[in-house]
Amino acid sequence: MLEQTNDSYRSLPGRFYSLLDPTPVASPRIIRFNQGLAAELGLASLANAPDAALFSGNELPVGSQPLAMAYAGHQFGQFVPQLGDGRAILLGEATDRQGRSRDVQLKGSGPTPYSRGGDGRAALGPVLREYLVSEAMHALGIPTTRALAAVSTGEPVYREGALPGAILTRVASSHVRVGTFQYFAARGEQPAVAQLADWVIQRHYPDCAEADQPLLALLEAIQERQASLVAGWMLVGFIHGVMNTDNMAVSGETIDYGPCAFMDRYDPRTVFSSIDRNGRYAYINQPPIAQWNLARLAETLLPLLPMDQEQAVAEATAVIEGFPNRFQHHWMAGMERKLGLLETRPDDGRLAHDLLDVMHADGADYTLTFRQLSELAQNMVEDSGAAWPGPPPSQALEDWLQRWRDRVVAGDLAQRAQLMKSSNPAVIPRNHQVERALEAAIREQDFGPFERLVAVLAAPFDDADQWMEFTQPPEPTEQVYQTFCGT
Ligand code: AMP
Ligand code: MG
Repeated sequence: MLEQTNDSYRSLPGRFYSLLDPTPVASPRIIRFNQGLAAELGLASLANAPDAALFSGNELPVGSQPLAMAYAGHQFGQFVPQLGDGRAILLGEATDRQGRSRDVQLKGSGPTPYSRGGDGRAALGPVLREYLVSEAMHALGIPTTRALAAVSTGEPVYREGALPGAILTRVASSHVRVGTFQYFAARGEQPAVAQLADWVIQRHYPDCAEADQPLLALLEAIQERQASLVAGWMLVGFIHGVMNTDNMAVSGETIDYGPCAFMDRYDPRTVFSSIDRNGRYAYINQPPIAQWNLARLAETLLPLLPMDQEQAVAEATAVIEGFPNRFQHHWMAGMERKLGLLETRPDDGRLAHDLLDVMHADGADYTLTFRQLSELAQNMVEDSGAAWPGPPPSQALEDWLQRWRDRVVAGDLAQRAQLMKSSNPAVIPRNHQVERALEAAIREQDFGPFERLVAVLAAPFDDADQWMEFTQPPEPTEQVYQTFCGT
């Protein structure tokens, strides 16, 4: 099932990981298996009878030589020289239908040499949350690790009290993080940093091998994918919550769904995570934090650049300083789609920012406002004077809508409406819905709400008339203000 591929992480020296097997669990049971992803990975033979023993680590797939990866990282700005997979084990790599290698990893599979006193386990709630949110992100078109299976272990894990244990099978295009580079750089192991960079180039950025300065090209390529990724987050109102350098994958996929959440009301300073006391990872801080993390990556490469250090710093700095422009480019392109602006004009940025300001002042729901705007565009195809489809708009929104109408009335409205509908989701994993599904699963072993949420989140841009409850913001009493890491 998982053969050794030629870009296997196992081909790197032993310092990069620890070889070990998952710790067996009492009575594994499949909660959910992702048939579509299994087919993508060429594991279709498993789809009919997914094996709980396999996705709990009780049995190993043929050809598997499991390992836990070493990494370091800046956590809330503080450098921790040794982190690593404390509760995850890489089973191996599968080759997907497109011929790309994809890591298959168990999360919650028992202690490793990197557990630092932790139990190596995961509770059911966070496993289901990661399943829901990562698959929702994929359906929204945002690069992400995927969820192949969720298994209950039949064993308790002890956090504030006893909770049911579970294991997630995570699929990623790789698990190398900014913190993986930092791990070796902090030890002064430059040859290992160089080997890691070569591996990452081979796996993710083969074009960089041909560049004059492959490492600078790699830095720039990683930056480009991060700029695009974080723009994608911002456009759907996603807040990662723990953008530590160990939680930033160099592949450009969203990774590590801990206290993440989607914003309901638009407020740029929104923070959900209970551990983010100073709002370091607030919604609006995500782009500058991504840039800060990339600067930490750049530092690990400096000693390897074939030039004097002063010039190396200057060149790497020039790359990092390009982040805001790259981010802005992706964000604006996405905003134009959300607003149905088929042709770029100089005042587009103003139009977009002014809408956000109105939403902020009105306390409007981010997702619903954009979806209603798409609906308005659709209705305007028949009747250019169509009214706002929601409750009566504020004066500020009314004024803004007039500017937007003037802007979009010329040109192909039907095409605009279609673009908007496919760019503004009707459903996102709203926190109150996610919490409700998790509660039912944890307290009553009722997986119905979880299954319904998985189903509706798989097609977020469809008209969700039969799923009305999932398109609506929380009532004041349903509002969730805080999320927890769940480790
Ligand atoms: P996270 O906050 O999930 O990104 O994890 C930060 C670090 O803590 C990583 O090295 C994890 O592997 C480790 N960790 C988190 N939870 C556990 C756990 N239950 N047991 C052992 N290590 C853990
Ligand atoms: Mg992590």
